[in-house]
Amino acid sequence: MKNENVLITDEEGKIKNIVPQEDAGEDVEIFEGILSPGFVNGHCHLELSHLKNVIPEKTGLIDFVFKVVSERHFGEDEIFAAMETAEWEMRKKGVVAVGDISNNSLSLVQKQKRNLQYYNFIETSGWLPQVAEIRFEKSKEIFDAFENEGLQASIVPHAPYSVSKELWKKIVPYFSGKTISIHNQETAHEDIFFMEGKGDFTKMYEMMKIDNSFYRAQKIRSVESYFKKFSNAASVILVHNTFTKQEDLDFINEHKNSDQLISFCLCPNANLYIENSLPDVDLFLKNDCNIILGTDSLASNHQLDILEEIKTIVQKFPLIKTETLLQWATVNGAKALQMENFLGSFKKGKKPGVVLIENVDGQKITEKSKPKRLL
Ligand SMILES: [Zn+2]
Repeated sequence: MKNENVLITDEEGKIKNIVPQEDAGEDVEIFEGILSPGFVNGHCHLELSHLKNVIPEKTGLIDFVFKVVSERHFGEDEIFAAMETAEWEMRKKGVVAVGDISNNSLSLVQKQKRNLQYYNFIETSGWLPQVAEIRFEKSKEIFDAFENEGLQASIVPHAPYSVSKELWKKIVPYFSGKTISIHNQETAHEDIFFMEGKGDFTKMYEMMKIDNSFYRAQKIRSVESYFKKFSNAASVILVHNTFTKQEDLDFINEHKNSDQLISFCLCPNANLYIENSLPDVDLFLKNDCNIILGTDSLASNHQLDILEEIKTIVQKFPLIKTETLLQWATVNGAKALQMENFLGSFKKGKKPGVVLIENVDGQKITEKSKPKRLL
């Protein structure tokens, strides 16, 4: 045994201590690999699990969004079964908590089983100003349904390009004290749309037969168009950030509240699936950002497995330490979801789950590494 410390938990997995082996007494189990606290999946859409292998890869975001909107409607039984399987898989692969997007209340049944901890992001969208009221009412109803079941929830905007000023106004008061998420800069066309009012998003609204003629580009970057609206949120998760640049991070730093946590959720496998590109991971490291990891949904990923996301990052950015990557996958995500009190690390009293990462090369995660949930 290389590292001669022993993790002691009770039968339910509550952390009691970490002690040197000589003080651990009898009954010590020895595992080959790395022990990690359970993973936090910072961005998922459990309700899209039935779209596994339905949407073609590498088509770009516009075609992807269009396909999800037009092809998401399956029978409820099929949707329920797919969610159950997807959740079971996540559990098996070491995930203990999920930041999960909900556009409807279908996932409520699965979440009530409380197999995993969920922070439910009730997602609202509506680009036409005249639908703001009705879209807000619908989201509020779903939000209430989750809260009434004692599940943690917040109302969140889908993306900067899909929420009208009128709809923003309605949801902003609900951000107070919550964790809020938004899909951010998943394609280069997002900034083009805000800077110039052109590009693929005008094409998307044509495809969706949404009359975009009211829109005037503000000649600012996407992040500048919305970030200040989050000022009363306790925690903000910007998801994807595939085309985020230093100037965006500077703007965020300048306008964030000092007591607010801003996290950048990277979903590399979904980025490769949809846009075939990856975010500038070094940029977030250099800026000392709270980086977290997410899988996105089975519509844009072959699995909901946080270790697979880590493996993709390791391949492209081999210099990042394993320890750093595991922090992104555990404690950083727990902080972002405001679950740090009970998840994310092996601190005494927490019940974070215990994952064994097998097939490692010394302390390095390799292509062959696999997660196994122990507790
Ligand atoms: Zn997403």
